[in-house]
Order: sequence, then structure tokens, then C-alpha cells
Amino acid sequence: LAKDAGRGCFRFFTRALQQSAEQRVRLAGELRRAVEAEQLEVYYQPIVELDTNRVTKAEALLRWKHPTQGTVSPAVFIPVAEDTGIIHDLGDWVFRQVIRQARRWRDTLGEDFQVSMNLSPVQFNVSGPSCRQWAELLASGDLPGANLVIEITEGLLMNTEPGILDILLRFRDAGIGVAIDDFGTGYSSLAYLKKFDIDVLKIDQSFTRNLSPDAPDFALCEAIVVMAHKLGLKVIAEGVETELQRDLLRQIGCDYAQGYLYSRAVPADQFEAFCRA
Ligand code: C2E
Ligand code: MG
Ligand code: MG
Ligand code: MG
Repeated sequence: LAKDAGRGCFRFFTRALQQSAEQRVRLAGELRRAVEAEQLEVYYQPIVELDTNRVTKAEALLRWKHPTQGTVSPAVFIPVAEDTGIIHDLGDWVFRQVIRQARRWRDTLGEDFQVSMNLSPVQFNVSGPSCRQWAELLASGDLPGANLVIEITEGLLMNTEPGILDILLRFRDAGIGVAIDDFGTGYSSLAYLKKFDIDVLKIDQSFTRNLSPDAPDFALCEAIVVMAHKLGLKVIAEGVETELQRDLLRQIGCDYAQGYLYSRAVPADQFEAFCRA
């Protein structure tokens, strides 16, 4: 919820939710029916390769068009989905959408094109059905795992339950890439970087936001890039909004950038139009 602090419009709604269990229950009920009511849509945000300026990846970001509240931010409804277990069905639905889309874009945007999707720690809950049949779904969707990436957070890897490692290994066996989202904001131990087989670090927006040549955050970004490259990982900078940010990130050898400078998350057809332009 700290992420919402800057977004005044969601702030009131979020606080109201915290105060009113009743409202939370209602939102959960509405969310449960939202898939059937076709109020949910997966949007895609381009990820640009800094060397070539080409869009080589997309991040899938879920949107809920609520009949009376307007567009509800995932920062609001994902926590509700996590608390109520709805996240399992929701995650399965997102996964199916993403597979179908990634399959199409493999043909139209290139065989190396990757789509990444976010996974909450709750979705790794070993008692939940999520992540189980995903390898089968992948096979039946005729999509090579290499065209998919899952985004997880540092907190998940600090969890010592063996079940989590098993699920991650299953994704790896299917050829699916693993990215660490919001890198730098979680636990400070970096030991997990050698324990798990990670492909990509996504530098959190809080580090890219105030980039200038003499800002401490610039040194931090550079250190992350150097460390990642030594470990054989690629780096994506999130929240890139200005040309200055992009130029500085390019200067330190960051591999990819994602942010409003290029595009917000948009529906699939608009994403294609963006790639053609
Ligand atoms: P995230 O995965 O870290 O996604 C990045 C967030 O930053 C997105 O917010 C995106 O719209 C926003 N963003 C992108 N570029 C910029 C920029 O230049 N400036 C600023 N200020 N923001 C930017 P969004 O779409 O509201 O999603 C919020 C979070 O909700 C995501 O954070 C992710 O953790 C979660 N989420 C979204 N979709 C899903 C999903 O399908 N499943 C799960 N489990 N979580 C999801
Ligand atoms: Mg993400
Ligand atoms: Mg996140
Ligand atoms: Mg992030």
C-alpha cells in the first residue's frame, strides 16, 4: 500500500477499505464475479531494449473495470484477491490470457518475444491449485516456455518452505524465465541470487525516479547493473519516465527500460500498434 502513497485518487479508496471490512467483503464478491462479467482485462506495457530501441518484451498488468468505481488499481484489488484466495482463480485466468497472447506475438512480433506476468507469493502457496497445471497448459497452448517470464518478489525467495523451490524448478523445467520484481526494496540478503536460478532483475521505480548524474540512486543503479552482469543476469529498469533517466541508464549499461516514457500498459491491440509505430 505504500506504493499508493503518491496516487491520491486511490488513497481514499484504500483507506476506506482498511476501515471497512464490509466493503472489503463486497469488493471480494464483486471481484469473484468480475471474470464472468468480463470486467477484467490484461493490459500490456512495452519493455524496450536500450541498445536497439526495440520492444522485445511486454509485462502483463491486470485491469479491473468496475461497473461503478471505474478502473480499480491492482494495488487495491490484488491484496483483496490474496486475502480471500480469489488470487488462485484470477491467476489461472491471467495465465491463460497471457499464454494465448504470447503465442500470437511469437508469430507476429518475433520468436524471441517474451511476455512476463506477475505472481504473488500467495500463488506459490503449496495448498493452492495455481502453478500446478501450468506446465500442462503451456504444452497444450503450443507455446515454448522461453516466451514466458514470471515476475516474483524478493520476499518469496526468503521463504524457506521447500515447496516454493519445487514450484520454481517446475517453471524452470518448462523453460520459463524468472525475474525479480521491485528489486532493491525487499530483504537485504543477496544470498538467494546464487541459490535460485534467476534471469532478470527489475530495478524498482523508487531507484530510477530521481536519477541524476550525482544522485546516490544513480550509483545504486550502476552497482546493481554491474553485480547483475557479473552474475550473468539481465537488468530492466522500471518507472522510466524521462529521456534523462533513459540516457543515464543506457550510460551504465542497463539492458532494458520500461515506463511511461515509452508507454503505459495498454490493451493488446494498442500494444501491437505501438510496436509497429
Ligand atoms: P509491478 O509488477 O511492479 O508493476 C509495475 C507498476 O508500475 C504497474 O502498476 C505499472 O502500471 C506501473 N508503471 C509502469 N511504468 C511506470 C512509470 O513510468 N511511472 C509510474 N509511476 N508507474 C509506472 P499497476 O499496473 O497498477 O500494478 C501494480 C502492481 O499490481 C504490480 O506491480 C504487480 O505487483 C501487481 N499486479 C498487476 N497485475 C497483476 C497480476 O496479474 N497478478 C498479480 N499477482 N499481481 C499483479
Ligand atoms: Mg511486475
Ligand atoms: Mg510488484
Ligand atoms: Mg515492479
